[in-house]
Amino acid sequence: MSTDLTTFAGLLSTIEDPNGRELLDPATGEVVGRTREGSTADIDTAVAAARKAQSDWASRSSEERSELLNKAADAVEASAEALAELLSREQGKPLNGPNARFEVGACAAWLRANAAFELEPEVLVDDEETHAELHYAPVGVVGAVGPWNWPMMISVWQFAPSLKMGNTVVLKPSEYTPLSVQALVAVINEVLPADVLTVVPGSGEVGAALTSHADVDKIMFTGSTKTGQAIMRSAADTLARLTLELGGNDAGIVLENADPAAIAGDLFWGAFINTGQTCAAMKRLYVPESLYDQVCEALVEVAKQSPMGVGLEEENVLGPLQNKQQYDIVAKLVQAAKDSGARVLTGGDPAADQPGYFYPTTLVADIDNDNPLVAEEQFGPVLPIIKYTDLEQAIGWANELEVGLGSSVWGSVLEECKKVAARLQAGSTWINKHGAVDPRIPFGGVKKSGFGLEFGLEGLKHVSVPHVISW
Ligand code: NAD
Repeated sequence: MSTDLTTFAGLLSTIEDPNGRELLDPATGEVVGRTREGSTADIDTAVAAARKAQSDWASRSSEERSELLNKAADAVEASAEALAELLSREQGKPLNGPNARFEVGACAAWLRANAAFELEPEVLVDDEETHAELHYAPVGVVGAVGPWNWPMMISVWQFAPSLKMGNTVVLKPSEYTPLSVQALVAVINEVLPADVLTVVPGSGEVGAALTSHADVDKIMFTGSTKTGQAIMRSAADTLARLTLELGGNDAGIVLENADPAAIAGDLFWGAFINTGQTCAAMKRLYVPESLYDQVCEALVEVAKQSPMGVGLEEENVLGPLQNKQQYDIVAKLVQAAKDSGARVLTGGDPAADQPGYFYPTTLVADIDNDNPLVAEEQFGPVLPIIKYTDLEQAIGWANELEVGLGSSVWGSVLEECKKVAARLQAGSTWINKHGAVDPRIPFGGVKKSGFGLEFGLEGLKHVSVPHVISW
């Protein structure tokens, strides 16, 4: 019996376990579906099957793998509305805005971009006596573990380059959003050969079984710094290669010559994309005293025009927090900031007795740089705006944390912005935008935000092993 993967009900019926664990819509508390729970034995089975499938997959031509990735993108586009609805209901993010439809669109875009990349051998030495070339071979079986904030898109970031290079992949999605990833893979597996891409849903324990597995050659992990550290410890035993995309606490710095009205929209979405639940979202904004009131007022205006609500209602562009744990972290940090005397410009006062985990869009002014709301990764729809009087002070504050994922500089003179950008300790620094990822441009963290790069040809290198051939 073939199932219609282009409707929400059809899609869900292919992945749901009627006796499995309930997933609740974080906006309404309604049951979205029931997930199968994988076990460590399922990891063993999936890794063994991935190993068996890998030599055939790697022996196909790069063109053939690209063709299949393009067909996978076609399949995602054909099921886009059903995938977006499931994602919206399970993760909470609205269909509209830079949210569920945007995420599904990005999945197709990243599949196509990786299909188009080709990692050619590099000539290292070419003289009369010696010729040496650097080739890139598949690493083997990739174990990928992901978070709940952008569950589909981050899975694609992990598996699209891996598959392109001839690896096979076992994915362990977050226990908060397993249906979204299983549905995406069900759609894609309509076109891929068996066992090239497998999902094993389950808890952190199942994730640990994958990342410590003796037959996994490469681990791609996106999630918290704490889990990344645990994975790195266990990888010492297997010597699996690692790409770790971990937590952040991105700073934005507005320069004296910026135009508050012109940048307000992009500043707002740099912070509030996916209701702030984004690793590379702006989490703290440094504004010079001379522009402080204007920037604050302009941001409040954008907040007023950005409705928050149930994801399936088309007018909404902001949604709930994904889970209670995240809601509690955000509520506690904002309350502590209020208690310390910080000034709430908008939000900061969640409605009692509401269904779902809605925390209002919150802008906080007159807050000290060492306040925990600034210094910790709060991962919610909140932006603390910190006043500075001296640019050196702002650069120092931006750089003083242990993490370094993204950052941004906002001003009207590009050369000046570039000078400040070069001094920021982060894997990516954007000018007059924030968090604008692009499949052609490498992305990754420094310091405790992790290491290894994703996207572009650099991304392909990180899912390969170097092989030097010389004569
Ligand atoms: P998390 O670390 O709690 O969980 C991530 C995944 O790891 C889940 O699938 C979980 O089941 C699994 N896991 C838990 N313990 C494990 C273990 N011991 N071994 C192997 N796997 C294990 O993170 P989260 O709460 O899902 O995600 C939010 C965090 O992810 C934030 O810190 C955010 O900044 C970060 N993040 C980073 C990026 C990036 O690109 N740098 C992108 C998105 C999210």
